Amino acid sequence: VTHLVWFRNDLRITDNRALHTACQDMHAKVIAVYIATPEQWQQHDMAPRQAAFIQQNLDCLDASLAEKNIPLFSHQCADFAESVEWLSDFCQKNSVTDLFYNRQYELNERHRDDRVSELLQGKCTLHAFDDSLLLPPGSVVTGSGEMYKVFTPFRKSFLQRLTHSDTRCLPAPKPRADKAERPPIVSIDYPFEQPDPSLFPAGEDAALQRLRSFCRERVQDYQQQRDIPAIDGTSCLSPYLAIGVLSPRQCFNRLLAECPQALEDDQSGAFVWLNELVWREFYRHLLVAYPKLCRHKPFIAWTDNVRWSGDADHLAAWKAGKTGFPIVDAAMRQLNQTGWMHNRLRMIVASFLVKDLLINWRAGECYFMSQLLDGDLAANNGGWQWAASSGTDAAPYFRIFNPTTQGERFDKKGDFIRRWLPELADVPDSDIHHPHQWAIKQGRVLDYPEPLVDHAVARKQTLQAFEEAKRGA
Ligand code: FAD
Repeated sequence: VTHLVWFRNDLRITDNRALHTACQDMHAKVIAVYIATPEQWQQHDMAPRQAAFIQQNLDCLDASLAEKNIPLFSHQCADFAESVEWLSDFCQKNSVTDLFYNRQYELNERHRDDRVSELLQGKCTLHAFDDSLLLPPGSVVTGSGEMYKVFTPFRKSFLQRLTHSDTRCLPAPKPRADKAERPPIVSIDYPFEQPDPSLFPAGEDAALQRLRSFCRERVQDYQQQRDIPAIDGTSCLSPYLAIGVLSPRQCFNRLLAECPQALEDDQSGAFVWLNELVWREFYRHLLVAYPKLCRHKPFIAWTDNVRWSGDADHLAAWKAGKTGFPIVDAAMRQLNQTGWMHNRLRMIVASFLVKDLLINWRAGECYFMSQLLDGDLAANNGGWQWAASSGTDAAPYFRIFNPTTQGERFDKKGDFIRRWLPELADVPDSDIHHPHQWAIKQGRVLDYPEPLVDHAVARKQTLQAFEEAKRGA
């Protein structure tokens, strides 16, 4: 009996359902495989930083599996179609009797897995698991069996179900009896950009350590601190969750271990943090219920009638962090330099691109994917469609953030802005959100661009564009 564990977006050995189940039979030979698909990743706009992070975590996974005497075979194929053929051959050559994997929910990934089950039918038994979510898609539905379109009732129903579900973490497997050869790890052919190891060290141990210290020391203050980008107030676990170095069950269990009242007190930092994990679930459940979301379609159809601006210079300035709006520019430079951006800032810059520059949200979604270390189709698409008012439970189109007042509210003294915009280092706290006015008063010339647009004018134009689109629908 040969059990093959196919690792995809679950690069960990602890609390991994597919791996755990494959190892239950102590007599079975257990081997593992990982298939990199660079052309497919290009099509999905994967960031070079995320690809490098995958490579690093693959090395860690290989070392952990070797300790368990489980060899990890890694290979590179161009895309999913090729990977399916290769996997089928691999199964045949290695006399695989059982294939184990954890499900992915994006459309191309699901089509790939359907093809695998067609090809392997009658040749080996497939065991697929729901593992990247606390509750599987389709399990949290309204009385009439439909997916919730609004977050708050989804969360209520989700938490009720969660308390009756088995959310225990699974241990790492015990070492297999036979020592195995250790095949070399594939060097993935993708334009790598190494993430800063001091910000995001690779490996399960690093992720678990961060989770532990966050739940022990910082989650209590999460509610007060999570919107202030100058403070290290959020967990920064998203890169690990995105590629499955960490599981949401590990997050949930660690949270409950440190804060046993998390589910009872909805004012506590712990509850509010759990709420964010539920947003992650909500967006993934939505992808499965509405596959059009994987096909670049808006949730609200009429928003496709908006006549977007095609101003390439505006888009380029936004990407480069040169819009002349300090909070927007500081945020974009954080993204460009580290591959991570604070959630409040993601909302501000997304709103700015769509509502101030009237640029199609898809351009922003794509740029984020190409830069983010935590790039994740469901969360990224959900976030962009929320900001663009085209999504389910999105901000209504007439609610438009003012980037300057957002900056004043969430980065009052400009600590975050100054960290990323050294050209504004001399501007005093009171003027940091209006540096051009300050420069004029002081008779100084700033090495900083003039604002791309007048927010009040842009706001009016956007409202008009959305109203026209709605009328035309
Ligand atoms: P914490 O505040 O510590 O939250 C814990 C975890 O909950 C996060 O790691 C993440 O997995 C999940 N989470 C938190 N907020 C959200 C949310 N709003 N939606 C879904 N999951 C959430 N998150 C991604 O993981 N990948 C993306 O590609 C992504 N793109 C985004 C694009 C836009 C326009 C917006 C507005 C948000 C996006 N988010 C994305 C959600 C959120 O900004 C990040 O998950 C969060 O900033 C990560 O930081 P953290 O780990 O410190 O989060």
